Amino acid sequence: MTARNPISVGVIGVGVIGRDHVLRLARRTVGAQVVAIADADNDRARSVAAEVGADVHATGAELIADGRVDAVVVASWGPTHEEYVLAAIAAGKPVFCEKPLAPTREACDRILDAEVAAGRRLVTVGFMRRHDQQYRAMKEVVVGGSIGAPLLMHAAHRNVSVPSFFTSEMIVTDTAVHDIDVARWMFDEEIVAVTVLSGRVSGKAQPGFRDPQLIILQTASGILVDVEASVNAGFAYDIRGEVVGEDGTVELSESAGAVVKRAGAAHVRVPTEWIERFTPAFDAEFRAWIDVIAAGGTHATVGPTAWDGYAATACCEAGLAALHSGTQERVELRPKPELYCTTQPALTSTALPEGTPR
Ligand code: NAP
Repeated sequence: MTARNPISVGVIGVGVIGRDHVLRLARRTVGAQVVAIADADNDRARSVAAEVGADVHATGAELIADGRVDAVVVASWGPTHEEYVLAAIAAGKPVFCEKPLAPTREACDRILDAEVAAGRRLVTVGFMRRHDQQYRAMKEVVVGGSIGAPLLMHAAHRNVSVPSFFTSEMIVTDTAVHDIDVARWMFDEEIVAVTVLSGRVSGKAQPGFRDPQLIILQTASGILVDVEASVNAGFAYDIRGEVVGEDGTVELSESAGAVVKRAGAAHVRVPTEWIERFTPAFDAEFRAWIDVIAAGGTHATVGPTAWDGYAATACCEAGLAALHSGTQERVELRPKPELYCTTQPALTSTALPEGTPR
């Protein structure tokens, strides 16, 4: 399939992240333009559209049907994703869907079935950490083998605070879902079991809110991944990761910025918001997405596929069961369709310093 240039994108849902994606696509993604916007809040749609000179559609369905729209971004709230992703597949248009692909395994199943029937990968899921230079450098070391066979991974996902509608369950489905995707991607293995522990609750949490949680993932080969998910950490948006191998370890560096040492102390900036920490990764994921569409190959997806979205949701469902049962819960996946078994083109190289053993 040959695509147009620039790629004309329509964005559905322009709240916090949707507006950010609109500005990213319109202002700093080479080869992309935003031509159409839809949002349940029409005033919000109009205001964001005015920032980039796009048209406004009354509904997401109308936007997908617009002949000028080459590709669709879905950044509305999770339960609305399925309808729009299915409509984009039916229209044969590449669709970038923010996480989650859909909040239930059944909804993800329907998306997989539709894409398999179309015979072409059109769905990319917004697990942007796969595009983060620090995570990519870490994976390069794990894959390179210099630290030996991976045994364990320690991770922490600490938010400063969350809105009052946030629930204990959302710590699994909205927060730790990124760590779940990282674990699957880091080790190229499925997660087969999930345990969720909660103990002493933060005094900053609402009554009844189980924060922090310790989420333990087990991969198919037995690698254990512990994720501290903590959403009232107060001090920073603090993302950590360390893989322990048989011969060494590799960890995310403390900061992408400079370390200042003076007057007997070291100072390093720690972001307070996810948007600051991951903006370069969001930029990279959209550059890669637009490039793959413009290249016009068989598949119009890069990075996390619909299968990855399905597997993450299945892990989250097991995580929710584990949160309530207090015991380890198994993750049962359907057989992986052939469509998702071929590898994708590799993303560009990482920022590993010269001479780092890979
Ligand atoms: P948000 O600020 O609430 O924005 C969602 C927007 O979608 C709102 O304007 C909402 O309108 C609109 N909307 C709701 N239902 C719709 C529908 N059926 N059709 C069209 N528009 C609809 O949410 P957000 O924080 O941006 O999150 C959006 C999605 O991105 C979620 O799936 C979230 O999990 C994901 N996300 C991912 C990351 C990441 O790190 N990758 C970070 C943040 C968010 P109303 O306000 O009127 O309902």
